[in-house]
Amino acid sequence: MTLSPSAPADPEVLRQSIRAAGLKVTASRVAVLQALQSRPHSSADNVFESVRDALPGTSTQAVYGVLAAFTEAGLVRRFDPAGSPALFECRVRDNHHHLVCISCGAIRDVDCVIGAAPCLTPSDAHGFTVIAAEVTFNGLCEQCRETVPPTG
Ligand SMILES: [Zn+2]
Ligand SMILES: [Zn+2]
Repeated sequence: MTLSPSAPADPEVLRQSIRAAGLKVTASRVAVLQALQSRPHSSADNVFESVRDALPGTSTQAVYGVLAAFTEAGLVRRFDPAGSPALFECRVRDNHHHLVCISCGAIRDVDCVIGAAPCLTPSDAHGFTVIAAEVTFNGLCEQCRETVPPTG
């Protein structure tokens, strides 16, 4: 038996954050947000699998729509690792980064490289004011390091 990584979020708190983001509260939005809180870095398919029992009649398309609305409203952050479908998480606005295992796809959050956004300076900003920097560290997770011989 395994314990879930985090306690299930209070649906009332979820409803409040949906409202605070300027969106209408619907059963599917609450379910999608709940699924993301218990399992961060989920793809739309992962979310669909966790909500379909609670939401009979929902579709992957509907889940995509909810995720797009959440991302636009800043409630959810979309993350696009190379070679994987887009992933979504509730941890927003902290400019955190990601460690991605190139073998099994495991993902870990990494806090800002120097503590505040943007935590990296481009070698040439071309006149831009840089607001945020997103870094993906690709590598092998601890588990894969044991089983996959290094390439090269
Ligand atoms: Zn791995
Ligand atoms: Zn993350």
